[in-house]
Amino acid sequence: MSESSRDSITGLIHHPYQPPAGFDAPQVGVFKASTVIFKDTKALRARDWRHRDGYTYGLHGTPTTFTLEERIATLEGGLQCVLVPSGLAAVAIVDFALLRPGDEVLLPNNVYGPSRELARNELKEFGVSFRLYDPMDAAALAAMIGPQTKLVWLEAAGSVTMEFPDLAGLAAAAKARGVLTALDNTWGAGIAFKPFELGIDIVMQALTKFPSGGGDVLMGSVTTRDNALHERIKLTHMRMGWGVAANDAELVLRSLPSIAVRYHAHDATARTLAAWLATRPEIARVLHPALEGSPGHAHWKATCTSAAGLFSVIFDPKHSAAQVDRFVDALRLFKIGYSWAGPLSLVVPYDLQAMRQPAPYDGTLVRFSIGLEAAADLRADIEKALAAL
Ligand SMILES: *Cc1c(COP(=O)(O)O)cnc(C)c1O
Repeated sequence: MSESSRDSITGLIHHPYQPPAGFDAPQVGVFKASTVIFKDTKALRARDWRHRDGYTYGLHGTPTTFTLEERIATLEGGLQCVLVPSGLAAVAIVDFALLRPGDEVLLPNNVYGPSRELARNELKEFGVSFRLYDPMDAAALAAMIGPQTKLVWLEAAGSVTMEFPDLAGLAAAAKARGVLTALDNTWGAGIAFKPFELGIDIVMQALTKFPSGGGDVLMGSVTTRDNALHERIKLTHMRMGWGVAANDAELVLRSLPSIAVRYHAHDATARTLAAWLATRPEIARVLHPALEGSPGHAHWKATCTSAAGLFSVIFDPKHSAAQVDRFVDALRLFKIGYSWAGPLSLVVPYDLQAMRQPAPYDGTLVRFSIGLEAAADLRADIEKALAAL
């Protein structure tokens, strides 16, 4: 059939297109595809999707997602990276790739809540058991590791209560028993410290937070420094089908160059507000690892060069939970909602008694995630809302 006799729709689909040669812009192109065309059957059969010397199918990578993977690996100080559709999916893919029936996974007692729920439900139903360990006690972790233990999750700072553990000590305790460690590095974001230098095997991050920085995209990454370990995760990735969209990858690629300046800006404002709140009579404790007296401050100091814009406060127990809710509701610049590392400051009250037994503190906990607003405006907002207690 000659080209001129084709249906116009066919002609539209097969319209000639060459990517512009010599268009040497520094921005990464947004390459979108499910199908990638092979020249012939020989090329199809010769293609090994595990290798990055070509393309197989949109799910297994495009020039856009390969570039983002390489940049996240660079940020984390790793060699290989797999992208998944959310931070929680990054936790799940590590669990699904490495754990089998009869295995045990150890989680810190201040682990990101949905990670614990995954262990408590799907993992348990698949025959994988889990126990919680005290991340502030590396010797206790070493004593808990048994023949079934296959993976130890690490988190720094811990979710909501913000304890900063001795990451190198915990990693060494696991390594001494031949057990893999995986770090949820969403807080550190590849900026505050370099996790692979502490002996950690796998570094996961919710790109939803600092790498995106816009509060407008969900994505996760799993970075490694070991080809065999990467391949185990990549195989599971292929079988699960957890790919990411090019437009989402583009958003993260666009935000990445400013991650360090944003991180430091969030950090500076958060430390100013945390230090001021520590002087307020309504507040019994401020939990911020860079603050003297906060749990694990010495580990933070030994490990980190900066801190994320995140901290929690414990209200004096004389203020009821209902009063603290009134404080949260009275805030105007701080919006009530989950997540962090976007331009908007956020606040969430947590019920410590429901989160952890025994609860580590009396009194209601409120977590602040500091955005990019002026510190003086945020402080005035908190000051006004404290009056509503
Ligand atoms: C937000 C977050 C996640 C999950 O990321 P999502 O993209 O929201 O699924 C995991 N761990 C930590 C510490 C987080 O803050």
